[in-house]
Amino acid sequence: MAENLERLKQRLPLLEYLRRHHWSPRRRGGRQELVGLCPLHRETRPSFYVNAHKNLFYCHGCGRGGDLIRFVELSQGLSFRQSVAQLERELAPEPDAHLLEETAAFYRWQLDRRPEAVAYLRQRGLQDPDLIEELGLGYAAGGNLHRHLAGRGYGFDQLLEAGLINGQGHDTFCRRVIFPCRQQGRILNFYGRSIGAAFPHRLLPRSKGGLFAWESVGHFSRVILAEGLFDLAVLWQAGFRNTTCAIGAHLTPAQFAQLSDRPGRLVYLAFDQDPNQAGQQADHQLARRLESAGVGARIVALPPEHDPNSYFAAGATAADFARCLEKAETP
Ligand SMILES: [Zn+2]
Repeated sequence: MAENLERLKQRLPLLEYLRRHHWSPRRRGGRQELVGLCPLHRETRPSFYVNAHKNLFYCHGCGRGGDLIRFVELSQGLSFRQSVAQLERELAPEPDAHLLEETAAFYRWQLDRRPEAVAYLRQRGLQDPDLIEELGLGYAAGGNLHRHLAGRGYGFDQLLEAGLINGQGHDTFCRRVIFPCRQQGRILNFYGRSIGAAFPHRLLPRSKGGLFAWESVGHFSRVILAEGLFDLAVLWQAGFRNTTCAIGAHLTPAQFAQLSDRPGRLVYLAFDQDPNQAGQQADHQLARRLESAGVGARIVALPPEHDPNSYFAAGATAADFARCLEKAETP
């Protein structure tokens, strides 16, 4: 871990990061030091020092300092882990579009051939074969993608850079149902839902893109926002094609901008009803932010401990969910 962090900071020096994000120094402070206006607080006289040699910053105005990761934490309000993930995404080269398409095709091919994957989809209440095909759903059994793609002429480094394998050559996705995340037709990422005991959610270390399927959802004046792609899939299956998904309860600035790009839009937040209230807190916060951006927000209350997916999988019908939408409340 510490080694990876060191490598990350070498690959993207602090000064280079600041320049990419439009910071420019006003003068030299010392032999290795540059001074400019602090990006972390409002000031008119430069007090933000960057030591290019030590790869560190310090602001004499607000008293904050540290390394690149600390800077990302402070400037974007992210946790340590989120900051590292964001920097890795920033450094990830654009993968070859053909490589991702071939990967998606291989996953798709496996879906029907693996009884565990078929059983899992049934358990999650997803059965419409046309929809499964439309979403491009696939299955990563694990342990065979690397060999398959090597056979198609892709090199180790290419697969590693795309995040499809790790440094030992093992497939990144193993025993996961795969949703390709497309934007303007191009695959940007893969979301893999574990069907076993592994951590449930996994994306490749790169941007998750905008809202899922926004090209087909953005024109609706009423939009349902779900937390997960299985929620979206069962809602589409039940006829609620105006559903989109941010892949998680936390929206990126770009996703928030999409949701609020049309005045008068009404957004139904259909998040998990966790027993620990995390989902409810996230949707209330988001609803208030949307309202202040001029977008109407309604909070959909499902029966306790349900999300849209589990609600439908437990036998709810489209009419049941429509009633939940009718009863949805303003924050
Ligand atoms: Zn400062």
